[in-house]
Amino acid sequence: MNPHEPNSWEARADAHSFYGFTDLPTINDRGTIVLTHGKGPYVYDVHGRQYLDGNSGLWNMFAGFDHKGLAEAAKAQYDRFPGYHAFFGRMSDQTVMLSEKLVEVSPFERGKVFYTNSGSEANDTMVKMLWFLAGNEGKPARRKILTRVNGYHGVTAVSASMTGKPYNSVFGLPLDGFIHLTCPHYWRYGTDGETEAEFTARLAQELEDTIASEGADTIAGFFAEPVMGAGGVIPPSAGYFAAIQPILKKHGIPLIADEVITGFGRTGEVWGCQTYDFMPDAIISSKNLTGGYFPMGAVILGPDLTDRMQAAADAIEEFPHGFTASGHPVGCAVALKAIDVAMNEGLIENVKALTPLFEEGLARLSQKANIGEWRGKGLMGALEAVQDKDTKQPFDASLSVSERIANACTDQGLICRPLGQAIVLCPAFILTPLQMEEMFDKLETAIDGVFAEVG
Ligand SMILES: *Cc1c(COP(=O)(O)O)cnc(C)c1O
Repeated sequence: MNPHEPNSWEARADAHSFYGFTDLPTINDRGTIVLTHGKGPYVYDVHGRQYLDGNSGLWNMFAGFDHKGLAEAAKAQYDRFPGYHAFFGRMSDQTVMLSEKLVEVSPFERGKVFYTNSGSEANDTMVKMLWFLAGNEGKPARRKILTRVNGYHGVTAVSASMTGKPYNSVFGLPLDGFIHLTCPHYWRYGTDGETEAEFTARLAQELEDTIASEGADTIAGFFAEPVMGAGGVIPPSAGYFAAIQPILKKHGIPLIADEVITGFGRTGEVWGCQTYDFMPDAIISSKNLTGGYFPMGAVILGPDLTDRMQAAADAIEEFPHGFTASGHPVGCAVALKAIDVAMNEGLIENVKALTPLFEEGLARLSQKANIGEWRGKGLMGALEAVQDKDTKQPFDASLSVSERIANACTDQGLICRPLGQAIVLCPAFILTPLQMEEMFDKLETAIDGVFAEVG
């Protein structure tokens, strides 16, 4: 099991695979974990070790790692029609059915869907749609994109520019015209003596001021995750969407809900915008869309953007955009099944049923001396490590506290994710109460061990 032994799986991974979003010192110490298969919410490595995946893959494998129905849907479609595109006036029957289904389950009374291979491409596509509209509607200056600090929207040049994380500076990003507003995280960004309502009002005022100083006619759209995911699981401050939506509406700025994580039940409702009671102009979907069984993303346009996009495309007789695998028949068949599984096999009900237990576990661990706060919604949650609970002072970054906790979890047979100084949990919707208990017990052991060293 020495990861540095030549010809070990770990050394072979190292030799020829270039890692993305991976803490390289951890890899150098421990080797990569090479996985062979999964069962329910568990995955197994080449040495036969079992891990409870507390992140359901990358937020997406909500039905677990061996859902028969999803695998069967893919196999059946591979036998029937294994691939096709959606260009030149052709598309598969599965694509037709998935678009109908997505509009039906969306919060929109009507709409249209455009497919991509990933969430990043779906956000890119949405931005290009807004730019396409700007040109067509005689407002070519309307190109700026508003997002929030700590928002995560993907990694392509445009979606990385939307992402409000400092690591993108190594690429010379963001591109011009991508504006990041304050993160709606009251615990971290609220000022001394400021109530949560005052904090929300300050963010709404910042939006108003930004629109005034930039010029409403230069802004193409505002993108927001209902709950920020890869920024550290950050639910909005109380009243946030109720405060910003009317401002955007007043200035004619579309509100795009990036529901790549929150879509299909993660927060306990089908959509995060339903959990937070706002109506976006379009929805970006991916991840749970196929339960992680096929790469796919989708832009779901609400009525107004549908009509405007149709008019703009009609004007030049084409929307010149698309990916070779847009609307892939296997992906569409898998997505149709995944939506059915999420909505009709009791999985979203299970999210609702498990949420109190999940919150109880997070709240229990937040009693630890070096956990500053727990936060979450539905089955996405985080524990924020701090050096000092009263001042919220973070640990020195060189201590790599969250990485150490995640590594200690791995030793316990639990996969969870370090994000900044937070530990993130985002389990599959099929979890049982017993597995929930296993998750928190293992995490507690890991946390206690690491805080005994650094606390
Ligand atoms: C993961 C994610 C994306 C990017 O999706 P990819 O499929 O990784 O390109 C975009 N937005 C949100 C909110 C995400 O969580």
